[in-house]
Amino acid sequence: MKYLKTEFKDLKPYHSQHLTKGIILNANESPYNLPKAILEKFKDLLDNIDFNRYPDTDNTKLLASIAKTYALEVENVCAGVGSDEMLDCIFKVVISKGDKVLVPYPSFTMYKQMGIYYGANVIEIELDDEFRYDINLFIEKIISYNPKLIFLCVPNNPTGGSLSNDEIEKILKLSIGLVVVDEAYGEFDDKTALELIKKYDNLIVLKTFSKAFRLAGIRTGYALSSKENIKMINVVKMPYNLNVLSNEMAVLALDNKELILDNIKEIKNELSRTYKELKALGIEVYDSKANFLWCKLSDKIKSALIENKIYIRDIKFKDEMYSRITIGSKEEMEKLIKVVSSNANC
Ligand code: PMP
Repeated sequence: MKYLKTEFKDLKPYHSQHLTKGIILNANESPYNLPKAILEKFKDLLDNIDFNRYPDTDNTKLLASIAKTYALEVENVCAGVGSDEMLDCIFKVVISKGDKVLVPYPSFTMYKQMGIYYGANVIEIELDDEFRYDINLFIEKIISYNPKLIFLCVPNNPTGGSLSNDEIEKILKLSIGLVVVDEAYGEFDDKTALELIKKYDNLIVLKTFSKAFRLAGIRTGYALSSKENIKMINVVKMPYNLNVLSNEMAVLALDNKELILDNIKEIKNELSRTYKELKALGIEVYDSKANFLWCKLSDKIKSALIENKIYIRDIKFKDEMYSRITIGSKEEMEKLIKVVSSNANC
């Protein structure tokens, strides 16, 4: 099969184990389905959908709703099949073969993977010893490499560290390339970089319905940026990218934002309680501004979790294995702590 690209021969497809039973803490989803009242409203909407017709290729209703939510103009917004599609569009409009892309390490693996698809020269910038961003190192690397594209995952998946807007601004001022601030977990943090969009044309903020909005199933994310950047993204996005169901549900979700996002408080309480309990058990665990914790667990604990049908994500960093635990419901986290404590060494 000589026609297949040799550059891709060592790549593996993105994989996340699809689980339907047990305690599912491996994909940073919400443990809660939508409130019943919203599910009922969605059922009513179904009666009025023309399934025989294509959806609106401009996603007009959804873009208007997103723009209104963030007090931006429709021309500042583009929506896609998850923020994954927006990432792909960003590579398409910015990267030519050999262009430099700066990504944090460890971080969301798709930045590097997509960089390889588009023939970019991907430069990984390691986080510090506490898995926080080393802003000075980023600045040093921007000066020496002058990258066309820079990714900042805020809070960072899988480690949970955030960046202040002052730090992000330092990077924006310095960079002549495009800076993508991926806020997939932004609703769990106490800040957003959105206010910087009006000030910096080279900033794109990415957001998604998959995490705090409890809608991983509808595969909808969006990019917020200057009109010029959004115009280019619209040129390369697939026609009719969002299906009718995703479009309707995303609009409904924004109309009921307060109700859906209400349980962020509870998830954050569970995050800090789980963090403290793991620390007290002598586990190496790191502070997080997202809905997950980055930690190091012994093989004994990891096996015990699987035996108890508690599923978390193992992630390799350099030559060591770490774990990322998504925060679930109170009951789920209590079960996790119970299994960890009966298998911990202290
Ligand atoms: N960015 C980050 C940091 C993520 O963790 C994810 C999903 N795990 C995505 C983007 C993609 O999210 P989605 O396509 O579901 O919007």
